[in-house]
Amino acid sequence: MNTKSLLQENLQLTRAAQLIRLGARLAVLESETTLSHERLVRLYREITGQSPSKGQLPYSTDWYTSWQPNIHASLYMNIHDSLDKSIALECLDLLANAWELYQAEARAMDAEPILTVTRAWRLVKFVESDMLCLTPCTRCGGRFITHSHEYGRGFPPFVCGLCEPPARAGKSKRSGAIH
Ligand SMILES: [Zn+2]
Repeated sequence: MNTKSLLQENLQLTRAAQLIRLGARLAVLESETTLSHERLVRLYREITGQSPSKGQLPYSTDWYTSWQPNIHASLYMNIHDSLDKSIALECLDLLANAWELYQAEARAMDAEPILTVTRAWRLVKFVESDMLCLTPCTRCGGRFITHSHEYGRGFPPFVCGLCEPPARAGKSKRSGAIH
């Protein structure tokens, strides 16, 4: 192996390690790096002291449009977009930096960051493949995650979950709630 590819591998290992520390699932790293499955499993064990879980990744777009998750996903995507526009970052660095900013904002609002780093990664993929997008709320002007093409040309008018919380919202204060 030459010096250049060794350096590249080291850089990928550093990025992968950072994301594992943030709680990323192995599939994220398998998809975004060229590191082998065996190398990633070893790294995961070194950092977490556990074997990576083998369960299915969250693949549905519906989670992101349900009430509380939607507020978290929208917060994340806005941070991700503005970070992407202001600095040139490699994909995994952007994910890690945007997620750390998101979790700090959520905690500042006394909410559990219910959008995991793996969910954040899936969200960006859904937006890139035009299954989800950011739609401006017709009342507050904030941009929120919706299914693509659901609110084309302002009809039906889109109202976000903060301007119009569902009826059940006031009944219980659940963890993860942003009001
Ligand atoms: Zn609104």
